[in-house]
Amino acid sequence: MLKAVLFDLDDTLLGNSMEVFVPAYFEALTRYMAHLIPQDRLIAELMRGTRAMEKNDGSGPTNEEVFAHVFYPAVGYEQSVLEPLFRQFYLHEFPNLQHLTQQREEARPLVEWAFERGWRVVVATNPLFPRLPIEHRLSWAGVPADEFDYALLTCYENMHATKSHPAYYGEILERLDVRPNECLMVGDHWEWDILQSSSVGIPAYWIAEPTHTPPTDDVALVGQGTLAELWGQIETGVLSL
Ligand SMILES: [Mg+2]
Repeated sequence: MLKAVLFDLDDTLLGNSMEVFVPAYFEALTRYMAHLIPQDRLIAELMRGTRAMEKNDGSGPTNEEVFAHVFYPAVGYEQSVLEPLFRQFYLHEFPNLQHLTQQREEARPLVEWAFERGWRVVVATNPLFPRLPIEHRLSWAGVPADEFDYALLTCYENMHATKSHPAYYGEILERLDVRPNECLMVGDHWEWDILQSSSVGIPAYWIAEPTHTPPTDDVALVGQGTLAELWGQIETGVLSL
């Protein structure tokens, strides 16, 4: 019996290509901090901190702690000095990036439907970001965190692994106290959303064009299609969960 649905955010609930968004985000963030740290240097250190977080496999600290350990000494400022600036950036500048994303009209009915079924709903976005910019993107997607009572929103503050490791999904199962076959993962990234969730036994729906061939043939998908197609399949009863 299904008890929890895990939704990826970027390019699943919200149209948001990371190839477009991340460079613009880093550009805006580093411009905001340029009076303290040269932009090129800050971009390099943000990327180094991100790579360190990607390696976090669930055996130790939170992703935030891993990032902080690498990042703050490298840029030569205390966390207590830079963090309030980051927060101001996320509050006042980050919202200007919304135009790079596309709201998907099926996201809200899909999330509402999952709640109506009594399932627990998890925002299973790769926890490389703080909670605040994730909350912004949920609002842009039309499914804000202050309106929907998500069981868990995975962010860099509360997770001990990234989607590059099965431990990410293990941590979600543990927090929700559910078994893998009581969950469904919905996401667009083959490795992060499909392979890693399947490796711990969570069934997965792949958000991809139906003509797109899965990169590997070792996963039995619940289904494959765009978010609109997933919603259509649910509404017409083609897909019963
Ligand atoms: Mg995604």
